[in-house]
Amino acid sequence: MTHANETRLAQSLPSSVPFVGPETMERAQGRPFAARLGANENIFGPSPLAIHAMAEGAKDNWMYGDPENHDLIHALSTHHNVGPESIIVGEGIDGLLGYLARLFIEPGDAVVTSEGAYPTFNFHVAGYGGVLHTAPFKNDHEDPDALIAKAHDVNAKLIYIANPDNPMGSHHKADVIHDMITRIPDGALLVLDEAYIEFAPEGTAPAFDTRNPNVIRFRTFSKAYGMAGARVGYAIGEAARMKSFHKIRNHFGMCRSSQLGALAALQDQAHLQSTLKSVTHARKRIGEIAADNGLTALPSATNFVAIDCGQGGDFAKRIVEELTTENIFVRMPFAAPQDRCIRVSCAPDDDLNLFAAALPRALKRARA
Ligand SMILES: *Cc1c(COP(=O)(O)O)cnc(C)c1O
Repeated sequence: MTHANETRLAQSLPSSVPFVGPETMERAQGRPFAARLGANENIFGPSPLAIHAMAEGAKDNWMYGDPENHDLIHALSTHHNVGPESIIVGEGIDGLLGYLARLFIEPGDAVVTSEGAYPTFNFHVAGYGGVLHTAPFKNDHEDPDALIAKAHDVNAKLIYIANPDNPMGSHHKADVIHDMITRIPDGALLVLDEAYIEFAPEGTAPAFDTRNPNVIRFRTFSKAYGMAGARVGYAIGEAARMKSFHKIRNHFGMCRSSQLGALAALQDQAHLQSTLKSVTHARKRIGEIAADNGLTALPSATNFVAIDCGQGGDFAKRIVEELTTENIFVRMPFAAPQDRCIRVSCAPDDDLNLFAAALPRALKRARA
């Protein structure tokens, strides 16, 4: 009996998954986490209007969602003042990054990212046979100069940068990104992941320029809008580029009630503003908890804080494990030297109080 073979590419890929989910960890531990602070989720939650829209919309989930995402795209077009033909909506940034790789990457194509940057991008690139080249972080920031230089060296097709960055929470000002855009090598496309942009200081996002075919920008309802489980993201770029996504995307990929939820969330900018206030407060509180324990919180332009634990990755890993034993879910960066940190999501005081109580015990055991 012979069986169908996977493609040679699929056979060559590791069977590992980039993230072990908190649910997997809870099943392994046999109990739920008391505080879920590891996945950069927005624990302050969605707008009540979005919750209402999704709940109301649930009864209509017998219908597929609008494959054109018409209403949401037009609302985004008004919100960002870019033409609707320059916007596509998809199943979160993650889903859209998959489409991007499918559109641009053939086996052997060179792709540049930072060492230890957002791994889901790498996962999609590898899935289409792309070859990843990395530039190191510089002072806990992704390094635009090194990324551009590397892209020249390897003749890269895609260059990835997240601004603000995950996992360090650092950011570059708009003029730094703008300057990077002016230096994109011929034949390359800049993948500008702005998952956290709403949390960043004014002046972090360059103005949209949808005439430029060499930049695609990615945004999401998962983070500031607090709707990670609804899976709604969008990308903005030159109209002809964006049109190409329709050739390969999953036309019925969007959940109908999620489309309604995202539309309502976008229309509730007051809720977004109150979330941003809560996140600012939580960032400060996480900084205090770190300082109380002799650790250093790094500045954050996101809804999470990287805490420098002062030693190498092994020590940070022990802290993460000990916090897991304490029923506190946090994660840590994958690559050195960023992996000296643990990464903690902003959350209401109740969750952070649990973290504050558990951290000294976890540290003590990690040091032992
Ligand atoms: C969380 C995150 C995403 C994922 O966004 P989704 O829209 O939920 O897929 C993308 N990029 C970065 C840098 C992130 O941290």
